[in-house]
Amino acid sequence: MRSGCGTYVMPARDRTAYDVVVVGGGPGGSTAAYQLQQFGHDVLLIDRETFPRDKLCGGLITYKTLRLLDRVFDESESHLVDEGILNFGADEYAAYFNDDLVLRDSIDVPFYFAKRFEYDEFLHDRAVEAGVDTHLGDGVSRIDIEGSTVETTDGETFTADYIVGADGASSRIRSQLADEGLVDTSGWRKNLAIAAEAYVPRDAIDVDIDYPMLHFGVLDWGYGWVFPNTDRLLVGVGGLNAKNDRGFRRILDDYFDLLGFDYDPDTVKGHPIPFGNYLDRPAHGNVLLVGDAAGTVDAITGEGIFYAQRSGELAAWAIDRAESGTTAAVADDYTDMLHEYVHPELHHSKQARLFIWGGPQFPRRLAMKAWFALLSDPSVELVHGIRIYDLLRRRGDVMHETLPGGTPRPT
Ligand SMILES: Cc1cc2nc3c(=O)[nH]c(=O)nc-3n(C[C@H](O)[C@H](O)[C@H](O)COP(=O)(O)OP(=O)(O)OC[C@H]3O[C@@H](n4cnc5c(N)ncnc54)[C@H](O)[C@@H]3O)c2cc1C
Repeated sequence: MRSGCGTYVMPARDRTAYDVVVVGGGPGGSTAAYQLQQFGHDVLLIDRETFPRDKLCGGLITYKTLRLLDRVFDESESHLVDEGILNFGADEYAAYFNDDLVLRDSIDVPFYFAKRFEYDEFLHDRAVEAGVDTHLGDGVSRIDIEGSTVETTDGETFTADYIVGADGASSRIRSQLADEGLVDTSGWRKNLAIAAEAYVPRDAIDVDIDYPMLHFGVLDWGYGWVFPNTDRLLVGVGGLNAKNDRGFRRILDDYFDLLGFDYDPDTVKGHPIPFGNYLDRPAHGNVLLVGDAAGTVDAITGEGIFYAQRSGELAAWAIDRAESGTTAAVADDYTDMLHEYVHPELHHSKQARLFIWGGPQFPRRLAMKAWFALLSDPSVELVHGIRIYDLLRRRGDVMHETLPGGTPRPT
């Protein structure tokens, strides 16, 4: 299966058989593809879009993502800043309850913001440089699980020993596995969030915001945000769909009223976020789901980039371990790794949000003020993954463990 030195590699356009087909070239898919290729497997990455392509997102890059980028891609924070992939860095933040400022504070570890069309193209390019073949601009329409093939909208068919489904929150591969009764998605709709976001050019407004602002209270079971880029502000609202009847465009419009600056309603876009609906077992046979397709998003912050990349990394590990004979069943191994390194944070964030968003607004406002008065620094460390939700302990290293029971063979 490995393409060692001197092995003939067929040109991409003629090839239809690969060790692994990764469907979706977002952060999860590109990380899985890159890592698998580095381990020595032949990988095809399929995306229905061509790169660069945008993805609706706030683009917040936390310290735990920087650690992963350093570990997996050997990309340092300073290099990513120099290259402009980290578009904006902020060393303070502000939290509000509606228009009431709860806290404005400086932070030791900066929050960075990336533009997704740059960030995702960068990761995709790193995968291609590593040797990953691509098939872009033509999405996967269905997979044949028994035959281990994927079919595209344009009628192409590719076979692979393993299929990684990294095709986002509305994953076709997850839907197919669910339709065939192979993964349990029964809680998916209940915990689905919707987000609406608009880009506001800085030169279109006369306010100058150089730090992230979070607004609680502007919707239920979610929050509003203003995230800075060098040339624009990203303004969005996101929360559980089932808890917000008003409609997210209307909520966003009201949020702009509160912020006090204008926007172009034609630029508003919406997108689902898995928000507490991670799949307990997002795998069947040789098909593994990663990232939003598997629901790996923090149930309070909505952070999904790190968990997409981490689950992509673990999927690569599981496939490599299955190929080397370390493990018998790749789906079990992958699920076990998620249970150990990813799901605890998702589970605990889902529990903790009951205290943040459960109950009427007035006690929530007081509780939030008390929380930030006492725990401002630990909260920032929690978001960065230095601390974990479980008793806010400084145990974030668990999210970066790399050698679950074995060392990958050198490439
Ligand atoms: C408004 C909003 C704000 C957010 N803000 C943040 C934030 O600030 N920080 C953060 O960490 N997370 C944030 N998130 C979450 C984050 O965007 C996602 O968790 C993350 O993009 C998941 O990565 P992924 O690789 O799993 O999927 P995606 O990034 O969605 O990538 C999926 C890829 O699959 C491709 N695809 C889809 N269907 C097919 C198909 N049938 N065939 C082939 N290809 C296909 C798509 O074109 C896409 O390239 C936000 C989400 C939203 C909606």
